Amino acid sequence: MTTDPHRAPGARRPRPAHAIPWLLMYHSVDHSTDDPYRITVTPGRLRRQLSWLCSRGLRGVGVAELLRAYAAGRGAGLVGLTFDDGYADFVEHALPALREHGCTATVFALPGRVGEDNAWDPLGPRKPLLTEAGLRAVADAGMEIGSHGLLHLRLSGAGTATLRRETAHSRAELQRVTGQRVTGFCYPYGAVDQRAIDAVRTAGYDYACAIDAGPLTGPYALPRSHVRQADNAWRLAAKRLLLPLRRRHPFPVAAGPLPAGQRGGADTLPGTVVR
Ligand SMILES: [Zn+2]
Repeated sequence: MTTDPHRAPGARRPRPAHAIPWLLMYHSVDHSTDDPYRITVTPGRLRRQLSWLCSRGLRGVGVAELLRAYAAGRGAGLVGLTFDDGYADFVEHALPALREHGCTATVFALPGRVGEDNAWDPLGPRKPLLTEAGLRAVADAGMEIGSHGLLHLRLSGAGTATLRRETAHSRAELQRVTGQRVTGFCYPYGAVDQRAIDAVRTAGYDYACAIDAGPLTGPYALPRSHVRQADNAWRLAAKRLLLPLRRRHPFPVAAGPLPAGQRGGADTLPGTVVR
């Protein structure tokens, strides 16, 4: 065994990229070029990005499947694909591209805004969100449905009642709509603090997605790479290479929700089959 003379005693060696779960963050997939928040990729660009992942031996899956695979020590060939906000264009543009590449994904939806639009983005453009029927169609297509809260509110600094409503109530609503157990949460704007994490755990979720790595990084604040229209093969390769440098904080994947007796969320589905 050799030692690195430049490394301080006890300093952690950066882990290779394949040892760290890589989660990609998408939002809308559409032909629109009016995109002030850079949340839209075209269907053609999405296809090229998925093809690049395939060419690197990676297959996109939903976050719950990704975390299960990593916990079992077989996650090296997988990458997590997430689509925030639950845009209706997912059905027309993202789903066919994912199917063509043998991928699945997690869609983080807003059950308090089903069938409405992204009214929280002041600059627009207005984009329609999935209806209840659309959410069921996405779930029936084999995609994971997670919660993005009820109304797309910033949860860092939010009061107790808001935290409970946005986490526990949104979970119960999505479970009612889809008939599936909902285990994933995603913080609007990536805004997370310890109280938000506690609310998500109490509501019975198994994991939650954030955006940036930070001191709260872990199963309830998973960092993600924002994928944009400009991300060609070279930029994706750079994002993957830089992954170990962004993760300065520990990343345990084998944690879980609070024990059943300590949860406040709806964990069983009355009258429905859990799929
Ligand atoms: Zn969002």
